[in-house]
Amino acid sequence: MPFRKNTPKPVQTPVKKPETEEGDEDESKKSSKGAPELLRGFRDIMPEEQGRWNFVRDAMRSLAESYTFDRIDLPILERSDLFLRTLGKGTDVVEKEMYVFTDPSNRSVALRPEATASAARAYIEHGMIERPQPVKLWYEGPMFRHDRPQAGRFRQFYQVGFEVFGSSEPIIDAQLILIGKKIFETLGLDVSVQINSIGTPECRQAYLAELVSYFRQFRSRLPEDDKRRLQKNPLRLLDSKEPETIELLKDAPQILDWLDEKSKEHFMKVLEFLDEVEMPYVLNSHLVRGLDYYTHTVFEFTLADDEGEKAQNALGGGGRYDGLVELIGGRPTPACGFALGIDRIVRALSDKNIDPPQYKKAHVFFAQLGDAARRVGLKLFEEFRKSGIIVSEAVGKNALKAQLEVANKLGVQFTLILGQKEVLDGTIIIRDMESGAQETIDVKKIVSVVERKLQKDPGVKTEGYSPVADS
Ligand code: AMP
Repeated sequence: MPFRKNTPKPVQTPVKKPETEEGDEDESKKSSKGAPELLRGFRDIMPEEQGRWNFVRDAMRSLAESYTFDRIDLPILERSDLFLRTLGKGTDVVEKEMYVFTDPSNRSVALRPEATASAARAYIEHGMIERPQPVKLWYEGPMFRHDRPQAGRFRQFYQVGFEVFGSSEPIIDAQLILIGKKIFETLGLDVSVQINSIGTPECRQAYLAELVSYFRQFRSRLPEDDKRRLQKNPLRLLDSKEPETIELLKDAPQILDWLDEKSKEHFMKVLEFLDEVEMPYVLNSHLVRGLDYYTHTVFEFTLADDEGEKAQNALGGGGRYDGLVELIGGRPTPACGFALGIDRIVRALSDKNIDPPQYKKAHVFFAQLGDAARRVGLKLFEEFRKSGIIVSEAVGKNALKAQLEVANKLGVQFTLILGQKEVLDGTIIIRDMESGAQETIDVKKIVSVVERKLQKDPGVKTEGYSPVADS
């Protein structure tokens, strides 16, 4: 595989021990006694939240398929070198946020902080350059960054990513932006697209020299973090959140003025394509994105009514990364992609009270009395499942009252009641939960009776199974 042959010696970038945040120090003490607790920045996504999560994931999956992206599942653990080499030395992710450790084979490994580098590795490793280009891949899954936990910022979070390898055409950049926007539209979220170009590494170099000399004059006014950026990764000064730096940025040189002709032409074409499809965007000359591998177009999606807080709350972002595949040992392969943060999207849906469709709710509850009824119930349950009707139950409860309480809570339309008498008679009671009317039915006919009753209600869809009603 070209990846192995051409891979340069691992870069010995020293990985600093992640800084301990306030609150982290107590963790070891906390966990030694009592009930185990979650690590800071980690969380459980509870059953009642799954409705929204599935809604988001289903929308992504369906759009990925309709734009003919092929799914790829990438490992969560990779050689740490893959990220150290690609994301950039002075970047926050590499400097402070990577979960790096030595595995039992004495290899330095990392929990992936993002998956574009992994997708590029897979592209090389599986010789995807031999496939018809461009190769369009999508993925979803957890990412890990030892960042300071705060609203919308977790140490384990979930992304969906779309990557296109093997085309340098500006229409690809435009189409990816369009797909991102469509995803948000499908979910009912109004987002604004921020866009910029950071050109090629060459023209960026010349621009950086200018930027550094501009900021050096004001070095003493810069906050400590930005002094560090000035030295290590001056491009990041452009998206600084520090008021003093933001003030200085007003007169700072603009990257767009330093783009070479080819970069300018590429960017103009991307914008023309977006104009063509009447997609609004905001030119943001301070948008650079956090990672080193980007070239040319960079973009971000933010909630349309959330302009002020900018990148802090971006729901997603991406850009072109024409040098990445070559950087990790592949043949030169232009590429472009974006990733969306599911956690933040789900939160936005919940803030805006956008409810997922409730089609995976049980419509029938099965209540039983006694062991014989339980046995019949087990078989019945399978028959209902085969015909696509979702049946919920509470077999752990004995009293009919307690079972009916559960049925009420779930908001089902019908409850089936099976007691000892019904088992002996070969019947079952069906209760309409709204009217309270009850009928006794031949147990052999119950599946078709329920089917008929549910079909009368056009709002009812019966596929899928969700043990918990969405709240
Ligand atoms: P990035 O890979 O940094 O460009 O992030 C892409 C998207 O992933 C962001 O716009 C966020 O929606 C999401 N994201 C990044 N970092 C985090 C985090 N620590 N917690 C939650 N979501 C995140």
